[in-house]
Amino acid sequence: MSPHVLQGIRGISRDVLDFFFPPLCLSCGEKLLPGEGFFCSRCHGAFESLPLPLCPVCGAPLGNKSLEKNRCPKCPTGVIYFDAAHAPLLYHGPVVDGILALKFHSRLELAAFFARILLYYIKMEMKTPDFEGIVPVPLHYRRFYKRGYNQSEEIGRELSRYLDLPLWPEAVRRSRRTSPQTRLSTHADRKKNVRRAFQPAFPEPVKDRHVLLLDDVYTTGSTLNECSRVLKDVGARKVTALTVCRALSID
Ligand SMILES: [Zn+2]
Ligand SMILES: [Zn+2]
Repeated sequence: MSPHVLQGIRGISRDVLDFFFPPLCLSCGEKLLPGEGFFCSRCHGAFESLPLPLCPVCGAPLGNKSLEKNRCPKCPTGVIYFDAAHAPLLYHGPVVDGILALKFHSRLELAAFFARILLYYIKMEMKTPDFEGIVPVPLHYRRFYKRGYNQSEEIGRELSRYLDLPLWPEAVRRSRRTSPQTRLSTHADRKKNVRRAFQPAFPEPVKDRHVLLLDDVYTTGSTLNECSRVLKDVGARKVTALTVCRALSID
């Protein structure tokens, strides 16, 4: 390509590009209007927060169920290693298309979009958060190299900038390759799938610290609980789990 053509391409304004390749809503595919980011206002308006009240431990909507020994029926079975789990959105409707675009279609610019949702949630909903650093749930290195990035780390990097906190992506590593949790249908299968899936790698920074453990979607809590176990084993003082979305219950 001649330098003139390249220069010409560089000179094309955003408006001209938008005219020929108008940005489309990630969910419904409609043309976006000026000021709309990734979703049209109708799809963005369909994002749903979790219906209150929530379980104080795992963050599940309680409905009309009550807590027994400080646990709800959706709490992970056995020992719970995280101190609380939070998610601003239900994994349902248009936001699912955004999560999948970030996770499987390299739309990395969505990381900042989701980090802003988390930032707003932290400021508005979490009482006096005193996290001292962020640990994104790691991918197994083979999956990482195949995908080229870890979506939770990408969100974590943006959030760490907004909150001015360190990011500790190497504290824990995924030592065993696990099946995607979404392919497993029962709580027991999911728990078994991630058992001993994580190991400490460079855990020094988390010692005596309150860690914000970050992932994209909370399914049964098995992954976050197993990762929290390792963080507590290496001396984390407190682990608060935070995900962008929470999946509706699988049973
Ligand atoms: Zn739309
Ligand atoms: Zn619970």
